Formats: sequence, C-alpha cells, structure tokens
Amino acid sequence: RESPQLSIVLPCYNEADILPAFIETVVLNARPMGLSFEVLAVNDGSSDGTGAVLDNLTQRIPELRVLHFSRNFGHMAALTAGLDHAAATGAVITMDSDGQHPPEMLPTLVERWKEGVDIVQTVRRETSDATLGKRASSFLFYYILNRLGDTPVVSGAADFRLMSRQAVDALKNLPEKARFVRGLVFWIGFKMEYVEFNAPARLGGHSKYNLRKMLRFAIDGITSFSTVLLRLSVGGGLIAVAAAVVYGLIIVFLYITQEGNLETGWSSLMLAVLFMGGLNLIAVGILGEYIGRIYSEVKNRPLYILRGNTQ
Ligand code: UDP
Ligand code: MG
Repeated sequence: RESPQLSIVLPCYNEADILPAFIETVVLNARPMGLSFEVLAVNDGSSDGTGAVLDNLTQRIPELRVLHFSRNFGHMAALTAGLDHAAATGAVITMDSDGQHPPEMLPTLVERWKEGVDIVQTVRRETSDATLGKRASSFLFYYILNRLGDTPVVSGAADFRLMSRQAVDALKNLPEKARFVRGLVFWIGFKMEYVEFNAPARLGGHSKYNLRKMLRFAIDGITSFSTVLLRLSVGGGLIAVAAAVVYGLIIVFLYITQEGNLETGWSSLMLAVLFMGGLNLIAVGILGEYIGRIYSEVKNRPLYILRGNTQ
C-alpha cells in the first residue's frame, strides 16, 4: 500500500488487556485529522498474549501494522525499531501504549507540525499515580543528567513527541547502540516546540519499568551524554599529591628544627602512600581522557546535521 503521511509508533510490552481499547481511541482521534496514517505497534517480546491481541486487531483496524521482537529488548529498542520501520513520509509520533500519553493530543501535535515545527515535544506536568519515590528519582535523574551532561534535556520531556521525517532521518543516522532517545532528540537540533500535558493513570496493568530497567535507563542516559565521571579522579589525585608535598615539607621542617617527636618510619610511609595514591588517581584520570575520546569516536555521531531549507 501507499506510504502514509503519518506513523504513530506504540512500544507495547505486556499490555494485552488495555491495547484493544487504547488503539481504538488512537485511531478514533487520528481519523478525523484528514491525513493518511498508520499505527505501528512494536510488540517488545511480550509474554501475556499482546502479540496475538495485536495480530487480531489488524483484522478490524486497517491502519494497524505490527512488528514482533524475538524477545524483550526494552523500551528504547522498541522506539528505535518503530522509527526505523515507520513508513510515513511526513511525520512520526511516538507514544506509550498504556494510556498515559493522551491520544486526544494527536491533533495538537499534528497542527504544530503543519505550522513548520520539526519536533513537537510534550512535557509532563503531573502524573496522576506517580509515587513520591518515582517523582524524587525522576527529579534527581534529570538534575544529574543536566549537571554532568553536555546536552540539556528538559525534565519531564516524555517519549511522546512528533518528529518530522527529516528529524527522524537525523535520529536514525546516529549509529550508537545505547540509545537514550530522550537525549538524542535534543542533541540532533531542529526547530522544537513544547506542549504540556498531565499524564493520567495507566488504563490498566502496572508499570513495566522495574528498578533494574530504571537504573539501566538512567545509566545509559548519563553515560551517553557525559564523560565527566571518567575524568573525575584527576582532581582527587592532584589534591592528594599536593597534600603529600605539603606534608613532606612539614616533616623536613620538623626534622631540621628537631621540634615535635617524629616517629621513625611513619612519616615516610604516609608520604609514600599519599604521593603514590595521588599519582595513581591522576594516571586513571588520564586514561579516562583517552577512553572518553575512544568512546566518542565509537559512538560515531555525525559532526553536524543539515536541515532542509525553510520556505
Ligand atoms: N515498554 C516496552 N518495553 C519494556 C518496557 C516498557 O516496550 O521493556 C513500553 C510499555 O508498554 C509502555 C512504555 O514502554 O508503552 C512505557 O512503559 P511504562 O508505562 O511501563 O513506564 P512508566 O510510564 O511507568 O514510566
Ligand atoms: Mg506508563
């Protein structure tokens, strides 16, 4: 069939109970927009029959297309697969399949795109069912990410966004494997606008991000955009070496003036430990500098991205 103008990408992991109603709502909100579209559901190795539910839905919903992963590869992999396989010529929208990204906003995103915005990024203001722990860890994560990282990432910028074809192609051109999509979207540039929303509670089921997945996500995010941690030890090393030098001078002074009682052996040992420890830390930091450079070469991001002409 002919390529649609819009693709709506839905990563789905064990959402069998809510998908029929949710995809119905998506389609009902998308049809009146007056452009051709597909809903591309990515079944991320679900074990609850999500695959069969999706395959069945394709018989009722002609706009639905389904990709099945061979196992659970994770939310970022599902998003990436969706962007890779989206057939749309105009724009791609990604959204969660659990109802926390309201399909009623689809027309708003599309309108902004029609006005010439490349990336319409939604920003979550409130989440109805977020626990205090989740709020606090989210706040802390974005704080650290923005302090350490070199790409500013807006706090609460969810993976609910519209991207024009040229932005999607730019994102696909980033060859790195650890794909922290929320950061990469900011890295590629292009004209971006924000739309705020309040996230309702899930339609059903429970969050598919357990502690392990959340930690993986946070570590991927921070290491993808920062090599500060690699170089951190240089500072500590310099302080230790400086302390060793000062300490050495004090000992020599005390030795010459014969003041205080110098324990034999202790001072020289302390000096050696401080000094060698400091040198070690500095050496580790220098390695970090090189590893950081190797890392950046291996990520192999393009040096620049061109955008199309603006009429
Ligand atoms: N998801 C996925 N693979 C995973 C975990 C989650 O495709 O391994 C999907 C999930 O089905 C949902 C979206 O990613 O559509 C966000 O997950 P979830 O709602 O569980 O995260 P939360 O909203 O709790 O942060
Ligand atoms: Mg959710």
